[in-house]
This record gives sequence, C-alpha cells and structure tokens, in this order.
Amino acid sequence: MRPGRVLIAVVMAVIALFGYYASREKNPITGKTQSVALSQEQEVVLGLQSAPQMAQEFGGPDPDPSVQADLEQIGRKLVRQGKVAHTPYRFQFKVLRDEQTVNAFALPGGPIFITRALLARLENEAQLAGVLGHEVGHVVGRHSAEQIAKTQLGEGLVGAVGVATTSDDHGGSQGAQQMAAFVAQMTLMKYGREHELEADAFGVQIMSEAGYDPRALLDVMTILANASGGSRQPEFVSTHPDPGNRQERIRQKIATTFPEGVPGRLTVGRRITPPQRSILPVADR
Ligand SMILES: [Zn+2]
Repeated sequence: MRPGRVLIAVVMAVIALFGYYASREKNPITGKTQSVALSQEQEVVLGLQSAPQMAQEFGGPDPDPSVQADLEQIGRKLVRQGKVAHTPYRFQFKVLRDEQTVNAFALPGGPIFITRALLARLENEAQLAGVLGHEVGHVVGRHSAEQIAKTQLGEGLVGAVGVATTSDDHGGSQGAQQMAAFVAQMTLMKYGREHELEADAFGVQIMSEAGYDPRALLDVMTILANASGGSRQPEFVSTHPDPGNRQERIRQKIATTFPEGVPGRLTVGRRITPPQRSILPVADR
C-alpha cells in the first residue's frame, strides 16, 4: 500500500467521524491566514491513526531503543519551547528501519519520522535538528490540512462518503468513482514550494532556539542533493528541484535572524557516527 492510500483511508474515517470542516484561519505560529480542511483536533486524530501504517511503509520502527531515545531527546528539545509547546499537537519522533530510502516526513498533528538511510548520512545533532525542525514546521504550519483543502479532497470525500451511505446503485458507483479520483490525488499530494520554504525558515528558528547552529541546515541540503534518488523520491528533495535556491533562502533567514552573525553559543552538538548510527559524545569538541 502506498502511503497516500493509507492516509486517504484514515482521512475518510476521520471525516466520517467528525464531518468535513473547512475554514479560513490565521495560524498563530506562522502568522499566515490559510484555508484548512481539518480542525487541529482532526489533524491529531489523523496523524495518530495513520502513524503505524505509514511507519510500516518504511520498514516499521527501528528496534534499537537507544537510537529511538536519542532521536526523541533531540526532538523534544525542539518542541518543548516557545509557541510550539502551546499547540495541541502531539509530537513523537521515530526512526524507521528503511536503510535505502533517504527520507523524513511529518504527519498532521505531530508524528515525525526519519529513515535510517537519512540518519546514516547526517553528521551531527544540529543537522538532525534541522531535519526535524523542518518537519515540525510542516506540522505547525498545518501544511497537510491546507493541502487537502487546496485539492478539494475533503469536500469530495464528504460527497463520496455521503453517496456511499445511500443504498441506490447509481449513487454507489458514483461514490466509487470519486473515491478512485481522490486516491490518485492523495498519492500525488506534495507540499508546494512555499510550504517547503516556510518549513525551512521554521526549522532555522526552532533549531536556533534549541541551541543548534542553523547553518547545519545548509549542510543537510547539500547531503540531500548528493543522495542519489532511488525509486522513491525523498520528501525533502522531491518538491524542490533547486536546492541551491533553497539554500539561498535559508541563508537569508539566518542573516535576518542573526544580523550580527550566528552566536558562538549555537553549536553543531554531538556527532552522529555511522555505521552504528548512534549518537556518541565527542570528547574533543
Ligand atoms: Zn518538507
């Protein structure tokens, strides 16, 4: 099952449970007014419900408890502060076993995943914080909810769910047709460039607040650009064919955040050492 299909099944269940919701709201964290297809409560339900199936798409959770604990620790550092701490989202950070697919992604409402393949390419905590911060940015930016509204997936689903519950045959086949179209849309659903740039800017902000040097996110862009594309495009690179340009925007964000230069107290943290891929203290730093 493709991740999109898992998600659509859960979207349908959530909509059946709560009803379709669409509104224009000002996001208190990004300050942006956006049309969203889900309430924050629905986002949390959707994320929690779909997390186990989405994890299975990338080999399931990594069985090494120390790898999970290290990731959780860095993730917590990012979300326990500032405005993020006061959102209703339930953040959880999981390493997935997949050693081939270089990827990280977020589900609505808080679940955030990184594959072993990506983790193995990262060199230090700050780079990891940059990846996780970017994904937290997608969650608090409510990008999935906005994307679902944009594709009118939500409205269509309500129609389909409504039609499917009526017993006449004509309605049933119409519902099935609509459903097939939504599955296709959902599978193709990607964040737009604007969302990626917003997530990058947010990543710079929260990784800095957590004490990490935001320039590490620039390294992440280079690492991702060098990662050869497999059969599945990593979320990070699939929607932005121009990492150079994205790096430029990150540089600008760092410059406006720290006009006097990046303070010395912001560090790259501990080193992440392959092939164990566990985070080890570095004595000589
Ligand atoms: Zn992204």
